Amino acid sequence: MPETTAPAVTDSLAARDSLSARDGGLVWHPYAPLNGPAPYGVSAASGVRLTLQPPDGGVPIEAIDAMASWWCAVHGYRHPELDEAARRQLDAFSHVMFGGLTHEPAVALAERLTAIAPGPMAHVFFADSGSVSVEVALKLALQYQAAAGRPRRQRFLTIRGGYHGDTFAAMSVCDPVDGMHSAFPGVLARHVFAPRPPIARLADDETWRTDENALAAWESEFRSMASAHRDTLAAIVVEPVLQGAGGMRPYHPRCLRVMREVADELGLLLVADEIATGFGRTGRLFASEWADVAPDVMCVGKALTGGYLSLAAVLMTAQVGRVITRSEFGALLHGPTFMANPLACAIAGTSVDIVESTWKHNVSRVSQALSRGLAPARELSSVIDVRTLGAVGVIQLGGGVDVPAVTRAALDRGVWVRPFRDLVYTMPPYVCTDADVAQICDGLIGAVREVHG
Ligand SMILES: *Cc1c(COP(=O)(O)O)cnc(C)c1O
Repeated sequence: MPETTAPAVTDSLAARDSLSARDGGLVWHPYAPLNGPAPYGVSAASGVRLTLQPPDGGVPIEAIDAMASWWCAVHGYRHPELDEAARRQLDAFSHVMFGGLTHEPAVALAERLTAIAPGPMAHVFFADSGSVSVEVALKLALQYQAAAGRPRRQRFLTIRGGYHGDTFAAMSVCDPVDGMHSAFPGVLARHVFAPRPPIARLADDETWRTDENALAAWESEFRSMASAHRDTLAAIVVEPVLQGAGGMRPYHPRCLRVMREVADELGLLLVADEIATGFGRTGRLFASEWADVAPDVMCVGKALTGGYLSLAAVLMTAQVGRVITRSEFGALLHGPTFMANPLACAIAGTSVDIVESTWKHNVSRVSQALSRGLAPARELSSVIDVRTLGAVGVIQLGGGVDVPAVTRAALDRGVWVRPFRDLVYTMPPYVCTDADVAQICDGLIGAVREVHG
């Protein structure tokens, strides 16, 4: 065999044996067909960088993770303190059931979460993922209303464009068009969807700007829908101030205040889904703080463990706890096997400590670097909007993104990004340096320009 063909043979063998090739057709990936675009293999992750193996077997690529692994790895990978917290708990015990037992990591984490939450949160229910925590919050709202003598209140009021998870009850309050409702007709409960509030921007002087007429129209529509359904509504469920997976779209904090008022007037619980927005991401420790609103129930997840393990929590006020405790069942009717997993709780406790001491400085620094770095994207012909809020930066195109092409073009610039629909966005780890953020912005802009113009 001539020497010159040897590298090609080696390459194709490597490609055939590669992780991506073994994965193909065997393992499902999120919202992807079995024969979908081949995934990149991850061989290492450290700090804010991933080492990726291209599906075609080429040389490994080192890339900054502009997604923070779907918004959760806020402190980056292999963080020494988080690794140490995991090791310490591993040496004690990794898991015990939570029925009839308790442990230091869970209690300490509950103490920390209730101390830092917006408003007077008194109780914590630990769940194993964000979606499950939303299920628990919705179940809790139904139990609350029944215990308060209003058993007919079994529906939820939310706004269009939301995302709350992929399990059935969570899916039922996701946007009815984008949220896969058409795939499960007849199974999903029908809830009440108010319009989306108008998009808003945070100006440099920290004031919010939006179309005031549109906001007034939204408020009156929201109030009248709530009032029309008042006898059947249990709770308002909403992502405070920033809608995430439904479109990376901020709205005016005044809208959240309107929801708080309506909830109080009609005896509804206000459930704040802070799974994406919690722990500093939007420029407040919790996005509800932008509106000075204290929810009755709050879900946190994603960044809770700094991206190490799956864990979520439902926080609630003393009033909610009291009503449910004196209900027919006396208990919150949920109890997952891995509830309050000690390893996850131990890591989360340390992650919350790190968030508390670092988020303000880091998020405002990343935020400024994103505003600066993404501004030139406004010049691109394919781009219709560029927006930032806290450590979130969004480039919105006039049409759908060619995801594999933009992903590849960004990787050529050392950036890992996972666009969706018409959005190329970043929610980077808070520990990105200014140079890292500049590389992310240049990478996203360069990739959009190369692929879409
Ligand atoms: C990601 C997300 C969820 C679902 O969390 P999972 O851990 O993926 O189940 C729910 N609500 C919001 C706002 C989210 O961003």
